[in-house]
Amino acid sequence: MVGVTVIGAGVVGLSTAVNIQRLLPSCHVTIVAEHIIEGTTSFGAGAIFRPTSEYIPGVNIERAKKWTQDGWDHFSSLAMSEEAGTAGIAITPSFMLSQTEISDPLYKDVVFTFHDLREEEVRKLGFNKYFKFGYLVTTVVITTKLYLAWLLRRFLQNGGKIERRRVNSIDEFVGRCDVVVNCSAIGSRQLFGDKKIYPNRGQLLRVKAPWIKYCVYTDGDAYIIPNQDLVAVGGCREDNNFNTSISKEDSKAIMERCCKICPSLKSAEIDNEWVGLRPIRSPLRLEKEDIQSDRGKMIVVHNYGHCSDGIGLSWGTSMEAANLVVSCINSQSKL
Ligand SMILES: Cc1cc2nc3c(=O)[nH]c(=O)nc-3n(C[C@H](O)[C@H](O)[C@H](O)COP(=O)(O)OP(=O)(O)OC[C@H]3O[C@@H](n4cnc5c(N)ncnc54)[C@H](O)[C@@H]3O)c2cc1C
Repeated sequence: MVGVTVIGAGVVGLSTAVNIQRLLPSCHVTIVAEHIIEGTTSFGAGAIFRPTSEYIPGVNIERAKKWTQDGWDHFSSLAMSEEAGTAGIAITPSFMLSQTEISDPLYKDVVFTFHDLREEEVRKLGFNKYFKFGYLVTTVVITTKLYLAWLLRRFLQNGGKIERRRVNSIDEFVGRCDVVVNCSAIGSRQLFGDKKIYPNRGQLLRVKAPWIKYCVYTDGDAYIIPNQDLVAVGGCREDNNFNTSISKEDSKAIMERCCKICPSLKSAEIDNEWVGLRPIRSPLRLEKEDIQSDRGKMIVVHNYGHCSDGIGLSWGTSMEAANLVVSCINSQSKL
């Protein structure tokens, strides 16, 4: 019997595990992770679907376009299905605001709609004080705590197994499975000694503002993303900052920036504050590696380093990673 172990239970680990089960229904897939859903970066992210090449540096554009299209096909069909509510996917009008013209973001040709806003429209919405250019985009917003739970349910229903624990050395999997899939994000620094991956600290608040039914996403460290229950208000971007404590100064500055764009936020009650570390790597690592350790040989498929777009890119990259796992197993003549 073929056995695959996936390290990591954030959006990338769970999506990769589910895609492996889709391609290899009889395979034993086990997820090993220190944090399962809660405690992962994925759990707290905004999260809007808007992959841009700026946020996935070093990746071939055609490959990035395929990940974006595959991701969109998945999220948009979920949004149009009867599962949309339980999976936490909502079609949401979104104002993308910028000081400079946005040149062909990856999502432009795949999302439901993408329109330039006229100068007069930017002014009527009150955005002209801070931004010169505006785009009205119909995309999807993912309430990640619901979406991750939906993925986990699917994984368990397909017969997947979960082990909650920290992996200290990759050697422990030698001889225990056919392929190890590494979706440990920032954990790859320690597990694989990869110094190319580093954190980018982000903080956001979740507020009670049920009247806000649209996203605002700006190039000025301010975004407003309505989730199913609360509204995510962010943010900040700090490279190489590992600090996951809440900064009250950051929260204050975030609220000030966002209230300028959306004054009704001033009366919103704060429910919680959250910090996450974006896994930054140029390029995102999605490849096979043959590892020879003291204990023996091992095949590892890496899928990590999704930067600021990990929720949006997760399904597309996971499909590619699952295909890679199939070809590794085929080459061992296991199927
Ligand atoms: C503030 C903020 C806002 C964001 N907004 C968006 C957005 O709007 N849209 C978007 O697409 N993306 C957004 N992102 C980015 C997105 O959240 C990440 O790219 C994505 O969550 C990365 O997912 P992951 O599964 O690779 O990592 P994670 O969710 O961090 O999961 C890593 C997993 O690996 C496990 N692990 C690590 N090391 C070990 C070990 N040694 N042993 C066992 N397990 C281990 C962890 O326990 C965890 O289960 C945002 C991020 C932040 C911080």
